Amino acid sequence: MPSEFSPSVPVPLLDVKRGNAVIRDQVLAAIAEVYDSGAFLHGPHVKQLEEEIARRCHVPHAAGCASGSDALLLALMALGVQSGDEVLVPSFTFFASASCIYRLGAKIVFVDIDPRTFNMDPRDAEAKITSRTRAIIPVHLFGQPAKMDELSRLAARHDIPLIEDAAQAIGAAYHGRPVCSWGQFGCLSFYPTKNLGGFGDGGMVTATNELLIDRVRLLAGHGMRPRYHHSVVGINSRLDSVQAAALLVKLQMLDSYTSARQSLAVRYTELLQQAGLTADGRIELPYVDPAAHHVWNQYSLRVRDGQRDALRGFLQEHQIGTEIYYPIPLHLQECFRELGYEPGSLPHSEQATDEILHLPMYPELTAAEQHRVVECISTFYARAYRRAVA
Ligand SMILES: *Cc1c(COP(=O)(O)O)cnc(C)c1O
Repeated sequence: MPSEFSPSVPVPLLDVKRGNAVIRDQVLAAIAEVYDSGAFLHGPHVKQLEEEIARRCHVPHAAGCASGSDALLLALMALGVQSGDEVLVPSFTFFASASCIYRLGAKIVFVDIDPRTFNMDPRDAEAKITSRTRAIIPVHLFGQPAKMDELSRLAARHDIPLIEDAAQAIGAAYHGRPVCSWGQFGCLSFYPTKNLGGFGDGGMVTATNELLIDRVRLLAGHGMRPRYHHSVVGINSRLDSVQAAALLVKLQMLDSYTSARQSLAVRYTELLQQAGLTADGRIELPYVDPAAHHVWNQYSLRVRDGQRDALRGFLQEHQIGTEIYYPIPLHLQECFRELGYEPGSLPHSEQATDEILHLPMYPELTAAEQHRVVECISTFYARAYRRAVA
């Protein structure tokens, strides 16, 4: 008989309060500084955050904006993407990676993923390039960089700009080169669940070229320059000074957050292996590309035996939070039906949505909580096995 674990000690999927409690005084002092200064927009904190993030990403330029979604939209606008253009993006990602393309009237061309990394498959991307392709948006999903060496060569060969969706991957690198430094643009999000999570919405665009970042800044400020003169139709997208000031405090912690995530990933892997859950291939552990410096925004399992939803239900009953990022591939979303993708058209993306399951993953998660998560998965399978042999 498997041992029953301690009853109902909940393990939340995410608890931002734990990390924020540690830096409460510093963050509130930073916010108070902005409060007292009255410089709520375009203040010195925004400039400082832009500079520090640019330095970390090994890029010369960065511009704050209101969200990761806006960062992607602004990058496409700065490239002049419009109706008649095509943009390549993976189908297995968060909605915002693709909606920016649709919003500009351009055609979304969905690319399948490499089933091991869940990231854009460079070969499928190559097959989908046409004379109308105006940009490629690789996504560094769950904190693992896409194959940026191959994708950069591909983009260069066809003279197509790359926009990196690094919303889940600040601090990650491929072959030692940071994400955001490979493409013409990098897009970051400070949504609270991201590795550098703020206290509300926020985002940033990085750029390797001064003209491009200038274009982003123009477009993010209503296309207005000088004041009340509009040469192009922009949007209003700014990073608030209070967010920037608070994020500067958190940025000092980013390296320690990242190492905590990496240690947690190692421990999950060890515990799942020790529990014998991976030996027969029912549960597949996350694959790490040897060239990747993975920052583990998420720890994802593949449940190969068709029991994903049953397992998730069991964990939920035992108060262990899990999530499915993402349950429906974007090419099969109702709002994109007009694009004409049929089930089966991007098989690896579709299979991932059926098999993937995410476990709690945040820097303050404890070893005891990880033990409980894995013990609960073991119990589920021990019960399923008892039923099967009964
Ligand atoms: C979170 C996220 C975004 C959007 O960021 P917001 O700040 O929430 O707008 C874009 N792409 C990916 C892959 C994301 O995870």
